[in-house]
Order: sequence, then C-alpha cells, then structure tokens
Amino acid sequence: MNRSFRNLTTRQAVGCLTVGTVFVALWTFAAAGFLPKWIYYAGYDVVLTAWWLRSAMQLWAKLPTRNARGKFVFWTYAAIFLAAMPMTDWLLPDAGATRTERFFVKSLLVLAAGIAITLIYSLLYKNKPKMRKKIVAGNWKMNTLPAEGVELAKGVVAGRSEVCSCVNFIVCPPFTHLSEVAAALKGSDIELGAQNCAAEAKGAYTGEVAASMIAALGCKYVILGHSERRQYYGETSETLNKKMAQAYANGLTPIYCVGENLAEREAGKHFDVVKAQIEEVVYNLTAEQFKNLVIAYEPVWAIGTGKTATADQAQEIHAHIRKVLTAKFGAVAEDCPILYGGSCKPSNAAEIFAKQDVDGGLIGGAALKAEDFLAIGKGFSK
Ligand code: PEP
Repeated sequence: MNRSFRNLTTRQAVGCLTVGTVFVALWTFAAAGFLPKWIYYAGYDVVLTAWWLRSAMQLWAKLPTRNARGKFVFWTYAAIFLAAMPMTDWLLPDAGATRTERFFVKSLLVLAAGIAITLIYSLLYKNKPKMRKKIVAGNWKMNTLPAEGVELAKGVVAGRSEVCSCVNFIVCPPFTHLSEVAAALKGSDIELGAQNCAAEAKGAYTGEVAASMIAALGCKYVILGHSERRQYYGETSETLNKKMAQAYANGLTPIYCVGENLAEREAGKHFDVVKAQIEEVVYNLTAEQFKNLVIAYEPVWAIGTGKTATADQAQEIHAHIRKVLTAKFGAVAEDCPILYGGSCKPSNAAEIFAKQDVDGGLIGGAALKAEDFLAIGKGFSK
C-alpha cells in the first residue's frame, strides 16, 4: 500500500471515504440506469485519468535530470499527438468535414498541445526552487597559525547573520586548529570540517590523523580526494575508498572532490575524467551512505590560478556529474549537493551559484578573509 495512504489523518481518511462512497454510489446508479449513462462513462474517465496522472507524476519524480524530463515531455507530446487523431473524429463527426478541414483541426490540436506542454515544462523549471542544501565550505589548506585561525572563525561568526540562514557554512582549518576553532564556532550554525583523514582506523601510522579523532574534535565533514592530495601525495581511488569508509564509520560527511587538469580539459576528456573519479569511489558507497555525501567539482586549472570556469562550463559538468550519480543511485542523486571550486570569489559566486546544478562552493583563497567568505555566501540571495 502507498505510504501516504497509511499516513492519512482521521479527517483525511473520512474525507476520502465520503468522496469514494459518493463516487461509487453515482456510478452504480448510472450503471443500473437510474442516472444518465454519461455519468457511468465519465466515471471510467475520471478513474483512468487519475491513474494516468499518478503514474506520470511518479515517473516524473524518477527522472531528476532536465534532459530526462525533457524526453518525458517529448513522449507525452507524442502520445497526445496520437490521441489527437481519434479526437478529430470526435470533434468533426463523419459527414460535413472534408479532408482539408480534418487536417486543419488535427494540426491545430497538435499545435495547441505542444504549446501547452512546452509552457508547463518551462514554468515548472523556471519556478522550481532548488531544494538541495546550499553550502559554502572554506578550505583553509596549510594557512594560518592557530590564533589567526580562531580570529578568522570569529570573524565568520560575527558576520554570519548578514547572510541568509538558508546557506550552510563549513570551515575546514588545519588539524592543529580544529579544537580551538570548534570552540570559536560554538553557539553558531557554522560547521566544522577537516581537510583529510587517514585511510586506517588507528595504529602504527606515524603522522596520520584518524577519522575518529577529527570526529571527536567536533568535525561533521571531511574533504577527501582534493586534487592537491591526489597530485602531491599520490592519493589513488584505492586509498580514497578506504578513507571514505573511515569517514562514514565515524559519522562524517565526505566532501569528495573531482576535477580534470588543464591537459585533460584541452583534450576534451573532462567528462570522462570526472566520471571515472566518481565510478571508482562513489559507486562503491551504499545507498544509505550516498545520502550523506557532498561532491565538489574543482577543475585543477582553476584552483588558485585566478582562472574560473564560466558559469555555463560549471553547469555543464555539474549536470554531467548528476547524470553519472543518477545512473547508479537513481532519483536521490537530485538531492546530492554538488559544489563548485576553483578561484570562486565574491564577484563571480552569484552567477555560478545561480546555475541549476550548482549548490554552492568549496572555497580556497577567498575563505581566508571572513568578509570575502561571507560575501560568497551572499551569492545565494542575489
Ligand atoms: C580549493 O583548493 O579547494 C580551491 C577551490 O582553491 P581556490 O578557491 O583558491 O581556487
């Protein structure tokens, strides 16, 4: 049974029963000949239309990408086109109508259906607010001394109320400051993340920091697979699979980074590169784990270089990432926040964040100034 039916309140249940009883009574009376026959036929139409609408809505919900929904709209239009044939005969019954008249009415019907469906589709998309979490995460990298980090965190807390409460701010300081920054964030809604964690749970791994340790210091997030770690510390998908497992085992939400380098972008391989980075790691997650994941798309050529991907470039690849996620996890991929990272600053954040599949940013350089970091958050309210 449908879950929503089980969750009806008594009032709603009584309402449903009353409407159902009246409906069945009318239908039975009409079938027995006590009421006009058209009521009997209309009953069929109501039931069939309701069933069709319900199936169409379920199908729509299962098609989270704009592309897939576009195809759905096309095929619905095609079905209406086919339905228009018998409808023409109904509108112009036998005698009187010439072939030309029939063709004319048929074309008008098809045109009207096409316009109506296109309008509904674009209205639905235009007015549909993004329901995903809006996130602005600061990756401080190997910057600031502990006291400076605390000052920075306090600055973010102080200015936080100027930014929409709909924006989720996360700061990711170096390990050495986590404890003090956690204290500085206390009482605010700004969350704490770490920039990395060990692939193992504990033991003889000199210099490593376990996921359990950062969780104990108050971290809710951990950045994994950042291009600097892949590039300078040889992090492979194999290591990242282990780190992801550690993160989940300790209740942390990974911010998993993907992105191509300049040569790959120039060779047109960027779609395949991010696809592979997702397939090799994210595809190994369970459906439950996937619900707790943030993806950050960071083109390596844009990190710390001052070069930013254009808003359209970001949207194009974010939509691709969502499609790759949908292929494995289905409709829930629509809820996965995908952040953009790479020279994101107050002057370009609003344009990038306005794109349908961009849900915020992973910020490097600009996260080191409370003012700029907060101003990037304001990109959402513009
Ligand atoms: C980063 O390294 O995560 C990053 C986005 O850096 P920047 O904003 O400085 O390009």
